[in-house]
Amino acid sequence: MVLSSVLGFPRIGANRELKKVTESYWAGKATEEELLKVGRELRASNWKLQKEAGVDVIASNDFSYYDQVLDLSLLFNVVPDRYRKHDLSAVDTMFAMGRGLQRLAKDGAPAVDVTALEMVKWFDSNYHYVRPTFSHSTDFKLNGNKPVEEYLEAKQLGIETRPVVLGPVSFLYLGKSDKDSLDLEPLSLLPKVLPLYAELLKQLSDAGAKSVQLDEPVLVLDLAEDVQSAFKTAYEHLGAEKSLDIVLTTYFGTVVPNLKALVDLPVAGLHFDLVRNPEQLDDVLAIVGENQSLSVGVVDGRNIWKNDFAKSAATISKAIEKLGGDRVIVATSSSLLHTPVDLENESALEPEIKDWFSFATQKLHEVVVLAKNASGEDFSSELKANADSIAARAASAITNDPAVQERVAGLNEKLSTRAAPFGERLKEQQPIFKLPLFPTTTIGSFPQTKDIRINRNKHAKGAISTEEYTNFINSQIEEVIRFQEEVGLDVLVHGEPERNDMVQYFGEKIKGYVFTVNGWVQSYGSRYVRPPIIVGDLSRPLPMSVRESVYAQSITTKPVKGMLTGPVTCLRWSFPRDDIDQRTQALQLAFALRDEVNDLEAAGIKVIQVDEPAIREGLPLRAGEERSAYLNWAAQAFRVATSGVSNKTQIHSHFCYSDLDPKHIKALDADVVSIEFSKKDDPNYIAEFQDYPNHIGLGLFDIHSPRVPSKEEFIQKIDAILKSYPADKFWVNPDCGLKTRGWEETKASLTNMVEAAKHFRNIH
Ligand code: GLN
Ligand code: ZN
Repeated sequence: MVLSSVLGFPRIGANRELKKVTESYWAGKATEEELLKVGRELRASNWKLQKEAGVDVIASNDFSYYDQVLDLSLLFNVVPDRYRKHDLSAVDTMFAMGRGLQRLAKDGAPAVDVTALEMVKWFDSNYHYVRPTFSHSTDFKLNGNKPVEEYLEAKQLGIETRPVVLGPVSFLYLGKSDKDSLDLEPLSLLPKVLPLYAELLKQLSDAGAKSVQLDEPVLVLDLAEDVQSAFKTAYEHLGAEKSLDIVLTTYFGTVVPNLKALVDLPVAGLHFDLVRNPEQLDDVLAIVGENQSLSVGVVDGRNIWKNDFAKSAATISKAIEKLGGDRVIVATSSSLLHTPVDLENESALEPEIKDWFSFATQKLHEVVVLAKNASGEDFSSELKANADSIAARAASAITNDPAVQERVAGLNEKLSTRAAPFGERLKEQQPIFKLPLFPTTTIGSFPQTKDIRINRNKHAKGAISTEEYTNFINSQIEEVIRFQEEVGLDVLVHGEPERNDMVQYFGEKIKGYVFTVNGWVQSYGSRYVRPPIIVGDLSRPLPMSVRESVYAQSITTKPVKGMLTGPVTCLRWSFPRDDIDQRTQALQLAFALRDEVNDLEAAGIKVIQVDEPAIREGLPLRAGEERSAYLNWAAQAFRVATSGVSNKTQIHSHFCYSDLDPKHIKALDADVVSIEFSKKDDPNYIAEFQDYPNHIGLGLFDIHSPRVPSKEEFIQKIDAILKSYPADKFWVNPDCGLKTRGWEETKASLTNMVEAAKHFRNIH
């Protein structure tokens, strides 16, 4: 019999229950008990849902209050001293590591002021994990037993689960050494963590678990020899725990270049992502050992399209032919964490389009149907309905717009190159803006207050008129402009109060997109996004942002940046189509944005920022042809969007999350870029920017945390950067937009930042 398996389920709840309770807990409005209770309820309902859908292998320990990688750091006591010394509860230590903590002394408890650990993109997804941070003094030991507790919790509900834990090689490889231990190579810690994993497996086995899912997603990266051989060391150690089957899972790419790391490992099963890289099937079939099972990831954990049953069934059959039905498991390609919870609630979607989609809950059914079908049960009517739906989508007029296809086909060099090179543009721009040294700016958004959200919702529901709403937005813009003038910022922004989300806002105005009302996906911690869905060829019928920018510019003499989301980010933060390639979708978006950039310029906006925070995450995980092709088309798309303006118009761009290679952004040819930087304390990383030719603002404070850096702290940071970065190209700005912050800390931080810039102006 062919079993079905789900590698992990979204933990946020169908109605964002986790976000609500977590944020109330942070605000002091919910108790720890209330927080934990919601966690238990969510786990229980997810397990039951899967059980009822007929899923055979259900994951546990896929739940987390913040991040599953952070959970593992805590479990192994990988907690830097700066979080440990405050005597915080386990839950508060976790949140302090995830998001920083700044707390005044109160009721005898001393003040706390710690920054968050570094947060990084989870491979090429829009999920972020908290980076395990090791030092020579890390005291590795088991600290709590979350995986065991959650296994038992499910068992008590009568549900047998397979606990999932990030595997040892990935855990170390995805981590980094702490500031005080920069010479420490995380992978060298393998001998210290393996006994902890072994102990954990033993505890799970004692609790009754029959198997464990160890995720080793780093196997889809380019790995040096020593990393590859670490798998043998690690799994030979862990394979000794004979009472428990280990299923080693990989996802988001191909393992073929690292295949030898997997041969003959003492594990009971292997899992591969056959959605992303279906072609790896032959190679992986060749290395599955005689007693091993193969979990075929055929239901997409990263996208929302209905599974193509005929295609998946063919893949499954091929595996069965080689291994027999008992050794094949039909699975999701990765955890379903990256998909929205349930399509059922999406009543606003047109039925024609809704029929093309499948969210996490629907995917459970897909996995089960495919497994049962492979076991010989009759699903012919389901298969037929599925084939009809796939065919209807391909033929639909919603999918195809010939005018857009023609415009992209007409792309040429001129359409993607600015009139003059940067040096000449700068000379034309300087007399217009007359900026001081160390010009200060922000990345775009200002605090999205409750008031803003309430008014936006009211307007969406028709409870206030468009005129009232416009007046409200104008008043918000005015407040933000006056504030920036008072603080003394040089290049202003309008604050983005009209935007629910930087991609969704534009997506709603671009033809070819559709939206969900409740299709939330976790991005990090309590921050969820609701990615728009690209269903057809993309174009911009009307201006999208001109009104707000023009209003903002009309009430100040300082330059106000027009603010747009770039083509690659629009693509990356949407659910893309799976029927045409990503390059084509990016170029369609680029032409739509080009129209907007040109309209902004024509309306008198002199500085235009086109944000591309997602450009790095789109980088193919492996070096080589695919990666260089991506870098080319991503840069080209940005230039198509921004090169229609005159030399006098200053184009900005912004990047955040992950390590960014300055080489990758050169090709965008933006006049000024701002980059997330505040948590990169490695001086070598700063040095990499020395040769970057255009102007740059290295982000000076972490906007994910309410913590307020002092003026002195800013001065120190700037000083450190100036050691390897010239003053005449140096912009001063935060890491990213301020939308998730409160006004109080925003005011304090920006005031200190501007004061620090003035300090350097005086001495340069
Ligand atoms: N302009 C956007 C903002 O400030 C950029 C956000 C981002 O880079 N994630 O909110
Ligand atoms: Zn950003």
